[in-house]
Amino acid sequence: MEDFLELAKENTDKDLETCGVLGAFLVLYLVHLRGFVIHLMPFFPPLCNQENGTFYVTTLIIPKQDSTSSSCQALNEEDVFAIQNERSLFPMGWIHTHPSQSCFMSSVDLHTHYSYQMMVPEAFAIVLAPTDSSRCATLMQQFCSLSYGIFQLTEPSGMSVLKECQETGFHPHKEPADGSPIYEHCSHVYTNSNLRFEIFDLR
Ligand SMILES: [Zn+2]
Ligand SMILES: [Zn+2]
Repeated sequence: MEDFLELAKENTDKDLETCGVLGAFLVLYLVHLRGFVIHLMPFFPPLCNQENGTFYVTTLIIPKQDSTSSSCQALNEEDVFAIQNERSLFPMGWIHTHPSQSCFMSSVDLHTHYSYQMMVPEAFAIVLAPTDSSRCATLMQQFCSLSYGIFQLTEPSGMSVLKECQETGFHPHKEPADGSPIYEHCSHVYTNSNLRFEIFDLR
C-alpha cells in the first residue's frame, strides 16, 4: 500500500485516481498425508481447488490507465494478463486511490470488483484515500493520516445485486432484500510485511 501510494503520488497531487492489479499465488496444503504438508500447486495445478490453501499477494501490476478524479480505467489489459499467466498468478483483486474522495466503494468500483470476485471468490479491493482522515488506520504509523479500506461484495446478497444490475456510470444500488450491506470490510485478509513482492509499472 505504501509503495503503491508513492507510485500514485504524481496523480494524487493532480487529483487523479491511480489503479493497480494484485496478483497472488496459491499454496495448497494437503495435510492428511501423515502430517506432511505438501505444496501441490507447482506440480499439479489442475488438481488444485481453492478450498484448502492460502493466497499470497506478491505482485502489483500498474497498467496503462486513463483516470479522472473519480474513476480509473485500465488500458491494454492483455499486458496484465500476460504477466499473471507467465507467473501462474490469480487475479486476487485491485487497489486504487481516491485522491479527494472519502474511503468507500463507488457504484463503478462495485461493478469493477464484481468481475474480480466472480473469477476468484476471495478477491478483495483496497481503496486508499489519502485526504480522508475520518478513519485513522493504525496498522502502520505512516498510514496515520491515510484512510484505507479492504473490501469485498457480500456473498450472496451483494453479488446478486451486482449480477442483476445493468446500469453503467455512477448510479444508486438498491439494498439487498435480506438487509445485509452490498459490500463489507474483509475479514480474511492479513498483512505480512515479510512477504517479498514485485511491482510492474506498465505506464
Ligand atoms: Zn473508487
Ligand atoms: Zn450497478
